Amino acid sequence: MNPSPNPAFDPDLDSFLQSAQRGQLEELCDWLRIPSISTLPQHKEDVERAADWLAQKMKSAGLQNVETVPTDGHPIVYGDWLNAGEGAPTVLIYGHYDVQPVDPLELWSSPPFEPSVRGDDLFARGASDDKGQLFAHVAAVEAVLATSGALPVNVKFLVEGEEEVGSQGLAEYLPSETEKLAADVCLISDTHILSPELPLIIYGLRGIWAGEISVRGPAHDLHSGMFGGAVHNPNQALSTLLAALHDRSGRVAVPGFYDDVQALTPSERTALAQVPYGDAELLQETGAPAAWGEEGYTVTERIGARPTLEINGMWGGFIDEGFKTVIPAEARAKVSCRLVPDQDSSAIGAMIERYLQQIAPQTVDVSVDTLQHAPATVVPLDVSEMQAAARAYHRVFGAEPVFSREGGSIPIATVVQESLGIPILFMGFGLPDDNLHAPNEKLHLPNFYRGIRVGIALMEELISS
Ligand SMILES: [Zn+2]
Repeated sequence: MNPSPNPAFDPDLDSFLQSAQRGQLEELCDWLRIPSISTLPQHKEDVERAADWLAQKMKSAGLQNVETVPTDGHPIVYGDWLNAGEGAPTVLIYGHYDVQPVDPLELWSSPPFEPSVRGDDLFARGASDDKGQLFAHVAAVEAVLATSGALPVNVKFLVEGEEEVGSQGLAEYLPSETEKLAADVCLISDTHILSPELPLIIYGLRGIWAGEISVRGPAHDLHSGMFGGAVHNPNQALSTLLAALHDRSGRVAVPGFYDDVQALTPSERTALAQVPYGDAELLQETGAPAAWGEEGYTVTERIGARPTLEINGMWGGFIDEGFKTVIPAEARAKVSCRLVPDQDSSAIGAMIERYLQQIAPQTVDVSVDTLQHAPATVVPLDVSEMQAAARAYHRVFGAEPVFSREGGSIPIATVVQESLGIPILFMGFGLPDDNLHAPNEKLHLPNFYRGIRVGIALMEELISS
């Protein structure tokens, strides 16, 4: 990666940022005091209050066309600044202002909605996920507008209040407003970096397919003393089928499963090898007795860059206390796959069904129902916005970011990619031990202030890319 052409900030901006820190922290704390728990109906008004608070803040920061957009659930907050002039790129900044519930409350060292600074950390629900990270970008815009009157790029903020409950409102709003939300790149700060000194860019998220396998035998449950040995037990048949979903080397055995999978490039494998996570860390984190997975790939590659198939649940027959000598009429399993580019998430269910029906004995009927699917997203490392992101991190942290692929899925990323077709930059400022969704959620304050600077640096770097 090229060394940054412009490591320093404008002196006026720099001194503004230094003197603004205290006020930025106080404002963030005001926002964090609003218990915007999206899943609990008794907090509906608080969620709205948090949306209004943000809209006010966006206006005072200098953003224009600020509005709170009602949805069937919680409102979306929008605001923009579009005066960067002909040819300037447009950045869509996504975030969410809703938070997770706080229980178990007794495990919090300070009340979740009374922000408390201890050492370098700010403790409060939502401090890292995602109010603090989103606020950093509002503060970045405010600082640049306050000192120079104009931003180098156009920006659009799109902030939802339903991220923790499935993003339903945004999933409907976004495809219907593609013109209004049109941009060159989407910036999402809702992830963590590796350590306070080591930034991380997530350039890929896996997709998902989830479904249910049913194996049907006799028309109703049977007495095993009367029919055992003469009728195929669906539990047994299901076990045989599930066991056939992988081969001995940990590969998924469903024919066609890997056909469209993009092979890892040598440069990607080199980049992923920089992620400081291996078998030892995996065993420590999970308590598993040994690592497992597809032969020929490292732990990081298996988690982020290779597709998987997991059996999430299996049931059938009698599972209560005591016993019942039954041959069940039916056995079922919940199964899900994590997918990588260019696997077709809508085709996986049929693929698994075809395979299982092919290998199933005549003695049972097998079917597979799809419950959910979404494709994987990957942003190529060499697109100019990705390079700008890396330079922005480097300018502020003094360290090259590590590039990694995340094992999970961020559903809104799929909606953004499908509706707007633009690359997404996942540039977080959280830390792995921020206790997201758990008691004592925190934000590391030095990273918060760095986050503001990274937001500014990114705007500057995007026009020099
Ligand atoms: Zn979040």
